[in-house]
Amino acid sequence: MEHFYTIQGEGYHTGKAAYFIRLGGCDIGCHWCDVKESWDATLHPLTDTDWIVQQAVKYPGKAVVVTGGEPLLYNLDYLTGELQKRGIQTFIETSGAYPLSGLWDWVCLSPKKFKAPHPNVLPHAGELKVIIFNKSDFAWAEEHAANVTAGTRLYLQPEWSKASQIMPLIVEYVKENPKWNVSLQTHKYLNIP
Ligand code: SF4
Repeated sequence: MEHFYTIQGEGYHTGKAAYFIRLGGCDIGCHWCDVKESWDATLHPLTDTDWIVQQAVKYPGKAVVVTGGEPLLYNLDYLTGELQKRGIQTFIETSGAYPLSGLWDWVCLSPKKFKAPHPNVLPHAGELKVIIFNKSDFAWAEEHAANVTAGTRLYLQPEWSKASQIMPLIVEYVKENPKWNVSLQTHKYLNIP
């Protein structure tokens, strides 16, 4: 759908320069989704994978974030293998709704209510990033935290349109439950993609 070099704004790798590859197509249907234009893959012309890899290696930041849409709708073995061969670290942002493919240096699992994560994604999650839209989402976040491995970093992130309302609740929750960390969409505050 699009590709661009920017700063990773959220989660464990916040602040790191990375080339983003956004794949079109998603059938999860989050009502607060901020990339609804990604949902219909047919609106986005197919792009040659080798060409995308050539673009990624041009930049000084040697990390690629594969996102969507839901990137695991596709088999990502070839793309990630070619990137890693060239010394690029591979990170994925996924709802986990489909089985994991690809070779990853970091898996960010951000589960969504409308389609539970596939069991084969859970053990690979370097971070669990739960979007908090309302109060009941804290209990839902704990359900997912119980399903990932002990080393998985845990993040709570306010849904952007409700950030000012939800943030005080997240702050109090993290103070009481310090296994969780706050994640902010800093790229939105910085006004960068
Ligand atoms: Fe949007 Fe991601 Fe939800 Fe798909 S999983 S609808 S891309 S927020």
